[in-house]
Amino acid sequence: MKKVVLLGSTGSIGTSTCKVAEDLPNDLELIGLAAGRNVNLLRQQVAQFNPQMVSVTDPAAAKEFANEFNGTPNVQYGDEGLLALATLPEADIVLIAIVGTAGLQPAMAAIRAGKDIAVASKEILVMAGETVMAEARKHGVKVLAVDSEHSAIFQCLDGKPVDSIRQIWLTASGGPFREKPADEFADITVEQALKHPSWEMGRKITIDSSTLFNKGLEMIEARWLFDIEMPRVKVVVHPQSVIHSMVEFVDGSMLAQLSTPDMCLPIQYALTYPARAASDRVQTSLAEIGRLDFEEPDVERFPALDLARRAGEEGGTLPAVLNAANEVAVEAFCERQLSYMGITESVAAVMDAHEIVAQPSLEEILEADSWARNATQNVILDA
Ligand code: NDP
Repeated sequence: MKKVVLLGSTGSIGTSTCKVAEDLPNDLELIGLAAGRNVNLLRQQVAQFNPQMVSVTDPAAAKEFANEFNGTPNVQYGDEGLLALATLPEADIVLIAIVGTAGLQPAMAAIRAGKDIAVASKEILVMAGETVMAEARKHGVKVLAVDSEHSAIFQCLDGKPVDSIRQIWLTASGGPFREKPADEFADITVEQALKHPSWEMGRKITIDSSTLFNKGLEMIEARWLFDIEMPRVKVVVHPQSVIHSMVEFVDGSMLAQLSTPDMCLPIQYALTYPARAASDRVQTSLAEIGRLDFEEPDVERFPALDLARRAGEEGGTLPAVLNAANEVAVEAFCERQLSYMGITESVAAVMDAHEIVAQPSLEEILEADSWARNATQNVILDA
């Protein structure tokens, strides 16, 4: 039985993780849950899983929540609440599925407390991949991928050393605008960008999937998770989203991992690893799928890919800047303060203005993150 702490329990990954825990009551126990503001859903999760500790963002909501219960669960709030959960002595593994960068400090705390971490929040590895992986090595803990692409690569590699890899191929669905002509991009609305062809996900990652920033962030995430240089991390568009990613080995052989798209599968694998637990949830009929297509990504219409490659190659604080600028720009687009193309334009402008700090400390990364957030706000105001 693995004891699991889940940060971001009320989100898309969080609720899928709850389904996995429901499927595997003899393998997984959810002992800690952190939500943001959705106290109603957290209440249902507490009734179902009976965790020993929970946390919410708002102190007043935490107080109200605590009054409903008789000491169990222990109710915490805010950043301190996330840290308390991440370091809960009984936890074996902490799954981080908080959108954006708020998961970085809890991830570091969990590692330092000797916990394995399962990372859905790719922003953590984009910002501070080198630091997080170095800290994990130092404390002898595992960093397990929840992103379906990285889970696929992990499964294909199956312990093979990095020098057996020629290239890693991340597959991209291409998003809702794969076939949209360049001259129609200026009019893209929030509603259109929120319609993903293959995955049901949270708002930010859905917008990122439409701009291909998501794939860009995943390239940098792969670079750190698998300790491989950026030029060997490639992207191929695969609209069916059945092959979740591939490894091309030095002898020319390629291995792929396939299934119908369902995040429960990579979540389950990260939580039960190295075991494979039996579950009927995911069924894949290749005959029904019929065909698997591939195409080159179009970097003219989707400049986010080149921006991310540049950030990954130049390194230092630039990936943190790319990540923070994108987060602010996506929020501004969703609030209708910025056009769709303004997202990549703002990120590019902020990256150009940044003075990169090489081999940054965690503090320097966090400084670059907050510098980029301010700089992006200014770029948006000037737009
Ligand atoms: P959602 O927006 O659906 O969920 C985010 C979760 O984080 C919610 O539970 C939210 O709480 C919580 N949250 C947000 N801010 C805080 C905070 N400061 N403190 C505590 N909790 C907080 O996002 P997703 O589940 O889609 O994505 C989560 C992460 O996983 C992202 O980094 C994304 O890139 C990554 N990911 C997602 C995939 C997917 O299929 N959705 C696939 C691969 C990776 P509340 O709702 O209660 O406010």
